[in-house]
Amino acid sequence: MKTEVLQGKIALKRASELIAQGEVVAFPTETVYGLGANAFDSEAVSKIFVAKGRPNDNPLIVHVADKSDITPLVDYISPYAQAIIDNFMPGPITVIMPKSDKVPSNVSAGLSTVGIRMPMHPVAREFIRECGLPIAAPSANTSTHISPTSAKHVYDDMQGKIPLIVDGGNCEVGIESTIIDTTTDVPTILRPGAITAQDLAKVLGQVVNFTGEVVVAKAPGMKYKHYAPTCEMVVAKELADALAEYDRKSKNCRPVLICSTIWTQKVGDRRVIDVGDNDKQVARNIYGAMHEAQEIGDYIICQDFGDSGVMLSVMNRVIKASGGKRI
Ligand code: AMP
Ligand code: MG
Repeated sequence: MKTEVLQGKIALKRASELIAQGEVVAFPTETVYGLGANAFDSEAVSKIFVAKGRPNDNPLIVHVADKSDITPLVDYISPYAQAIIDNFMPGPITVIMPKSDKVPSNVSAGLSTVGIRMPMHPVAREFIRECGLPIAAPSANTSTHISPTSAKHVYDDMQGKIPLIVDGGNCEVGIESTIIDTTTDVPTILRPGAITAQDLAKVLGQVVNFTGEVVVAKAPGMKYKHYAPTCEMVVAKELADALAEYDRKSKNCRPVLICSTIWTQKVGDRRVIDVGDNDKQVARNIYGAMHEAQEIGDYIICQDFGDSGVMLSVMNRVIKASGGKRI
C-alpha cells in the first residue's frame, strides 16, 4: 500500500473519503498523532489493531469534535465527568465513562467503559467534523514503538501500512493525553499528562494519582512496555554520572544524551539533543528527541527531569522507554 502525506483542505477531503470507506487515517492532535477509524464500524476499527500490531485487549480512545457528540457514546455523564468536560475540553485529556451500546466492543477492548477525548488541535477538529463521525484512535505508531509527534515520525514508522497521513505539523503538547477514570468512587488518573493531578484536584476536589502496581489493568495499555526506542535507554539524575556513562559507553557504542538546555552547555562535543529549558518545551520535544537519538546513536542517556507538575508525566514516558534503568 502506498502511504500518502497530504496537508490542508485536500488532506481533509481525502481523509473523510477514506474514513467513510472504512479505512484508517493518521491525523495530528495537540498531544501526539493518532491513527483513526470510524468508531461505530468495528471492521474499520479492527484495521487499526492490524496496522499497529496492537494487542486487542488494549482499548482505543474515541475522539469527538463537539461536546454534543459525547452523549450517544456513553451511558451517562456523571457530575465528575461533566466537570471535566466543562473545564478541560477541548484539551489534552481523556475521560473514562460508562460505554453506550453504540460503541463496538473492540473499541473498548471488551470493557464496559469508553475513553472520550475532544482534541484542541484545529486540524484534528476539522478532520472529525468533516468525517461527521466519532473517530476511534490510539497513537499512530507500531505497537511498542515511540509515539509520533510529527507526520515524518508517522511516515517512518507506518509507511506501507496505512493509506494516508494528514500532516498538521509538530504536536504542541508532545505527550499523550491525561487519562482520568470517572467510574470509580474517587476520580482516578490512569495516565499522567499535560493536565496534572493538581489541575484536576482544583476542579474535582479529589483525585487519586495512579501509582500502584497494576493488578487488574484498568488502563490495559499500562501493562505493556510502551514508548520504547529501538535501542537501550537509561536515566541519569546527575550530569556527572551521565557524562561518565557516555564516555564509558562510547568505547563500543554511539551514545546520545537527551537533556535540558542547561546540561547541554556542559557536555563538550558529545552527541546531545536539547529538549529545552522549561516544562512545556521538554514535554513537546521528548518524543522527537527519542526518535532522533535512535537514528543518530545506539545508546540513549536521558536526564531525570524530576517530578514536579508536567515533568511527572514526561518521566512516566521516559521511565517506560528506559524500562526503569537508571545509572
Ligand atoms: P494510546 O493513546 O495509544 O496510548 O491508546 C489509548 C490508551 O487509552 C490505551 O492504551 C488505554 O490505556 C487507554 N484507554 C482507552 N480506553 C480505555 C478505557 N475504557 N479504560 C481504561 N483505559 C482506556
Ligand atoms: Mg500509544
